[in-house]
Amino acid sequence: MTQTTPLKLFNSLTRQTEEFRPVHPGEARVYSCGPTVYNYPHIGNMRAYVFADTLGRALSFKGYKLTHVINITDVGHLTDDADAGEDKMEKMAAEKAQSIWDIAEHYKQAYWADVKALNIRQPAQWTIATDYVPQMIDFAKGIADKHCYALPGGLYFDTSTVADYGRLARAVTEEGEGRIEEVEGKRHAADFAIWRKTPAGETRQMEWESPWGRGAPGWHLECSVMSGEVLGFPFDIHTGGIDHREIHHPNEIAQNQAHNCTNGLDVAENSGARIWMHNNFLVERSGKMSKSSGEFLRVQLLIDKGFHPLAYRMMCLQAHYRSELEFSWDILAAALTRLKRMVMAVAPLTGLAAAPAIRNPKLTELLARFDAAISDDLNTAVALTLLDEAVAIKKVPTEEKRALIEAMDAVLGFDLLTLTRTELRVRPKDAALEDEAVEALLATRKAARAAQDFAASDAIRDRLVAAGIDVMDGDPLRWDWKPILG
Ligand code: AMP
Ligand code: ZN
Repeated sequence: MTQTTPLKLFNSLTRQTEEFRPVHPGEARVYSCGPTVYNYPHIGNMRAYVFADTLGRALSFKGYKLTHVINITDVGHLTDDADAGEDKMEKMAAEKAQSIWDIAEHYKQAYWADVKALNIRQPAQWTIATDYVPQMIDFAKGIADKHCYALPGGLYFDTSTVADYGRLARAVTEEGEGRIEEVEGKRHAADFAIWRKTPAGETRQMEWESPWGRGAPGWHLECSVMSGEVLGFPFDIHTGGIDHREIHHPNEIAQNQAHNCTNGLDVAENSGARIWMHNNFLVERSGKMSKSSGEFLRVQLLIDKGFHPLAYRMMCLQAHYRSELEFSWDILAAALTRLKRMVMAVAPLTGLAAAPAIRNPKLTELLARFDAAISDDLNTAVALTLLDEAVAIKKVPTEEKRALIEAMDAVLGFDLLTLTRTELRVRPKDAALEDEAVEALLATRKAARAAQDFAASDAIRDRLVAAGIDVMDGDPLRWDWKPILG
């Protein structure tokens, strides 16, 4: 579908909304910082991938040939982003008494299950950090002389050797860096390890030989190398959560500048990517998102409590990606209801073929407004209201209506035309009754009501409520019952 409104995106590097102009005409090359697979992702982490996926879908909608890369970090990410603390993977492996490789495989699969559940499209490539270690060593060799210095702990990047270090973060003051743990011999507080040496006398589960001793790459080096290797510098867009704007991405940019023989960040080519985009955080006040809080907020927990995972996708898209989003079960329940309404409303269209073109003026006008919303730095909140309008619209050719909804859904990613209302009714893990038992009780209740035996009918309703089932007499969406959520 050819779109007319130019796509505008907010570039964290310039703090401005800019028109997207691809490096390679007609193409869009995007790199997203992926998860460190030492634990299950929480739903906040998954907001970052719903955002990256929506960006990718929007680029496809705008007609660009998309190449999206997401990495999997299975080595090198320390418990503190600024290169202090322990390696997250080593720490979890020790706690679980398992090999790091098993830990990485288990949590990578768990992350992929969440990706699938949230309809996040498969990127062109998942890059696994440990597959790129020789390239990381080559990259480090290329910049070591001019930009790095060796310390007993490994090879460090000297941030004063590149122009405008930290322009992305806009917070590089000595005061601001006070929180960064000092390493003996570091020239500047913001300098960071690009290669960490295994301490003498120790052996790590993951380590490689290098000119700076046996050890492992730094986390920032990994993303510079994988993005450059697969997409080529400069590429179009680099994404991550807003926390990455402060340390991880400034460090990636510094390395990219060094690697690309920099003249300063004003030459966008040198920062590796032209546009750096960051999603804001999902917040939860009671601490349930902390991975150390026992039952933390994971996609599986939402499912166990009876929520279809796409309700969470809906919740994410109802907010702008640059706004903080507060999690609550009520908002999630409302998002689920909205999704259910959409699925019900489009059900009559599922058997139809989509029209090859949309000509009806009411529909073309809606599509143009949808295009404008998405082109306005991915305004999904407005795009969703336009999808609501589209599903409700009457007196238009139905095949064309289907084509419009397909086009919108391709960007928002609910698979509305294949999702069924039965699929949306997820039973909580601790459900006291199976679906068949619920249906049988409802049939008995119906018979009791027909026989005007209201005492029996009420008793059955009470029994169902006790089992977490809400009986829906006269529901406008024609549901007989729904699980009581939360
Ligand atoms: P990590 O696995 O810790 O590297 O994080 C994976 C992604 O999730 C990164 O892009 C983070 O910036 C992002 N992220 C972490 N916490 C949140 C949150 N609460 N809300 C949104 N994104 C987050
Ligand atoms: Zn990264």
